[in-house]
Amino acid sequence: MDDDHHRIETRSIHAGQRPDEDTGALMTPIHANSTYEQDAPGEHRGYEYSRTGNPTRTDLEENLASLENADYGRCFSSGMGSINTVLNLLEAGDHVVTGNDVYGGTHRIFTQVYEDYELEFSFVDMTDLEAIEAAFRENTELLWLETPTNPLMSIVDVEGAAEIARKHDALCAIDNTFATPYLQRPLDLGADIVSHSLTKYLGGHSDVVGGALLTNDPDLDERFGFYQNAVGATPGPFECFLVLRGTKTLPVRMDRHCGNARGIAEWLDDHRDVDRVYYPGLESHPGHELAAEQMDDFGGMLCFELDGSLEQASEVVSSTDVFTLAESLGGVESLIEQPAPMTHAAIPREERIEAGLTDSLIRVSVGIEHVDDLIADLDAAIDAVLS
Ligand SMILES: *Cc1c(COP(=O)(O)O)cnc(C)c1O
Repeated sequence: MDDDHHRIETRSIHAGQRPDEDTGALMTPIHANSTYEQDAPGEHRGYEYSRTGNPTRTDLEENLASLENADYGRCFSSGMGSINTVLNLLEAGDHVVTGNDVYGGTHRIFTQVYEDYELEFSFVDMTDLEAIEAAFRENTELLWLETPTNPLMSIVDVEGAAEIARKHDALCAIDNTFATPYLQRPLDLGADIVSHSLTKYLGGHSDVVGGALLTNDPDLDERFGFYQNAVGATPGPFECFLVLRGTKTLPVRMDRHCGNARGIAEWLDDHRDVDRVYYPGLESHPGHELAAEQMDDFGGMLCFELDGSLEQASEVVSSTDVFTLAESLGGVESLIEQPAPMTHAAIPREERIEAGLTDSLIRVSVGIEHVDDLIADLDAAIDAVLS
C-alpha cells in the first residue's frame, strides 16, 4: 500500500505491511531463516544472509520509518545497539555534547566504553540552549539528546538544539524512546537521526528487546546498514514480528497512556503526602509550554516526590498491587520504581540530589489499565506508609 499520505493511525497498521504474495496471509511471516537461494553466483532476490537483511526486519524498518516521517529505518538488537551504531560514525578525537541527565545506559556507553576509544563527552543542562552552544568545540561532531528526559521529564527544545548542531556542522541525534513518533517527530523538527529503544512503547508489551535508527539522509542510512552487517547487533525475525505487532496499536495505547498519566498527575498534585509532581502536562512543569508546542500530548511517564524518607518511598513502591515494582517502561502494564536505589543508583548521592533526584522520588510508567484502579492502588500504598 502506498500510504505516505495516510495519518499515523493508519500507517502504524499498514506501513511496510502487505499480504504474502504466495499465500495471501495478512501478517508478515516470521522469516526464521539465515541464508537465501541465489539464482547465479552474486545474483540474489534482495537477501543473501540474515545479518545483512531479513524480510521480517525489512517490514519493521519500513513501518518504523513511516511512523517517524523518515525515508530510511534500520533495526538493531537493542536500544543500546542503535546508540552504539551512532557512536560508530565517530572517530578518535571527536567530541560529543549531551545531556547531564541522559539515560543511564547511554551515560555508561559514553563514559565506560567510548572514552576508552578517545571520544570526548560534555554533559550539560539541555534545557538551556546557551549551555548547549557553549559546550560546542572545534571537534564537536555529535549532539545527543533526549526529550522528555528520565526521570524528571525535562523538555529540550528540539528545533533550537538541532539548529545549534547544524550551525557547527555536527549531527543532531535524538533518543525518542519516551515520546514515541505518535507524540513527537524529531526529524520534522530538524534532527538528523532518531534513535529508539523498541523495548519500550513501540514494542509496548514488555516482551521484546530491540532498537532502531531513522533518518532522511541516504549516506547515514548506508553507514547504519554497513554497521548492521559489520558489527552484527541485528534483531532476529521473531523480535521484529513482536515489535510490528506492537506498532499497530501504538496510537490507541499512547492515547490511553497519556490520559491515564494526566489523571494520575493531577490527582498526585493535590495529594497532601506528595511534595512535587513532574509531568509535562501539568502547567506547573517548567517545560509545559515547550512540550505543548513540540509534542502532540505529554506521554505516559511521570514521577513524584513523596513527603517522606528514602525508606518510606521504598515501602510505598513495594506495597502497590496493580503497579508492579520493576525498572523499564512503556508496556501496557503499570510499573513503579524508585530511582535512588534502582535506575539511578550508579550516580553518587550528592550528585543525584543536586540533579533533583531526591531520595523519596518515585517514577511510574503509567499503563493502560483503568485509571481509577491505578489511583486507588497508589492511594492505598501511600496511605499505608504515611498515615
Ligand atoms: C531503555 C532505553 C534505552 C536502551 O534501550 P534497550 O532496548 O534497553 O537497549 C535507551 N534510551 C532510553 C531513553 C531508554 O529508555
